[in-house]
Amino acid sequence: MAALLDVRDLRVAIQAERGAVYPVQGASFSVDREETLCIVGESGCGKSVSMLAVLGLLGRAQVDAEQLSFAPTKEAVIDLGSCSQRELRRLRGRQIGLIFQDAAAAFNPVLPVGDQLAEPLRVHLGMSRRDARRRAVQWLERVGIIEPEKRAKQYPHEFSGGMLQRAMIAMALICEPSLVIADEPTTALDVSVQAEILDLLNDLKRTQHIGLIMITHDLGVVAEIADSVTVMYAGQSIERASKQSFFQNLKHPYSQALLACTPNWKQGRASIEPIPGAPPALDHIQTGCPFRFRCPHAWQRCEQLPPAFDDGGHMARCWLLDSDVDGPEHRSRPL
Ligand code: SF4
Repeated sequence: MAALLDVRDLRVAIQAERGAVYPVQGASFSVDREETLCIVGESGCGKSVSMLAVLGLLGRAQVDAEQLSFAPTKEAVIDLGSCSQRELRRLRGRQIGLIFQDAAAAFNPVLPVGDQLAEPLRVHLGMSRRDARRRAVQWLERVGIIEPEKRAKQYPHEFSGGMLQRAMIAMALICEPSLVIADEPTTALDVSVQAEILDLLNDLKRTQHIGLIMITHDLGVVAEIADSVTVMYAGQSIERASKQSFFQNLKHPYSQALLACTPNWKQGRASIEPIPGAPPALDHIQTGCPFRFRCPHAWQRCEQLPPAFDDGGHMARCWLLDSDVDGPEHRSRPL
């Protein structure tokens, strides 16, 4: 059966004033209903751009993919790559919900929150104003907002950050989509509110039978909520696994370095090992392993792009995993 969303070898090229940039150079991931996929990586690694490309929100950028399919029902498999903007507009909000990082910026400051929640119901489902408002109040209650009737009449500035994030989750889910994409939805929240929002998303994933894609740079969030994980670096998917396999056996040196960057409290002090250097510029297509300038294991072989080495569903792109080059003598010539 087709995955809810199946993306293979996604590539994005954007013509900028100073020349072309290639923010996504081979991203592959998939998610099913009732599954949470976390896409992890540093800022600028292509996580959000990949999602914008999938949703057709990149204007005149050139988007290519081997596969870009969305299957909201068993019978219907939609090729997103060949959809018109009009068709994509119909899918966004109705079949695919979006939760943004900054809820305060996503809401219109001069419209009551309830009206904004009701709008997708009127646009996508043709509901009457009255029914849509009633459903909006029900959803505010469902995401844990107290006095939802009163809150529905209030403006975004009258909500706290956590409440507004809950309202945004309600707006993303109000048309009962099959897929929800959440772009760093808890980054701006304090840790206690973050935990509540993650619990809420987890609950809704099960009760609404949605597939959830969570974009994050926080491995703590991944450990909390993920079923599967894709790590991105320089626009490429460089490791992909179930959460359990990922944390038990990190295969790619970049994933290992990311974990070492996570604060680790030992004897009352946090030890963090930063990754030296910076990600490569994306103004050209990578020809070798994009992590080779920062990788402590890099050797001459790494000047060629590593293929995907798959071990029982745990994939990583690193020459260290090639059984033909497993001896240290093969790596005697460092880069
Ligand atoms: S392919 Fe080479 S440079 Fe890239 S992560 Fe593996 S060892 Fe490091």
